[in-house]
Amino acid sequence: MAQTITDLPLILINTHADPDHISGNGGFDEVYMSPKEEGNYRENGGTGSFHPIHEGEVIDLGDRPLRIIDIPGHTPGSIAIIDEKNRILISGDSVQDGDIFMFGPMRNLERYIESLKHLEKFTDMFDEIYAMHGSFPVKCDLIEKVIEGAQLIKVGKTWLC
Ligand SMILES: [Zn+2]
Repeated sequence: MAQTITDLPLILINTHADPDHISGNGGFDEVYMSPKEEGNYRENGGTGSFHPIHEGEVIDLGDRPLRIIDIPGHTPGSIAIIDEKNRILISGDSVQDGDIFMFGPMRNLERYIESLKHLEKFTDMFDEIYAMHGSFPVKCDLIEKVIEGAQLIKVGKTWLC
């Protein structure tokens, strides 16, 4: 239980609404997420009130600002979060060295590549990446490698790492 960690108020931020990321949401009354993800969230059984968060917004946890970056592609409302004080990127599923699901109606490979290029603009703000699957943590140069792999897939070539 998250409540055992601190007596301070808790908020829940989801990087996106794939079922493996929201299955614990029932313990919270409110969820912070991109508004572009709300439909996906409700379709996957998401409950509670929905607090939209947007690119450039900074959620201040006191002395620990969290910057929101929109990175649609894996899902329509995927976000990444930069923990500015600790120089960590929380990447959701979009940057990881495990399998990244890019099949199905919500996935968009073109937007995914654009989003990763957008994310590269912020690499001076973090030193490592906390991915949700695969190795933990991963190095920042993984973003470039994932872009390269996605571009190869886009033109029909297999990418093996
Ligand atoms: Zn996912």
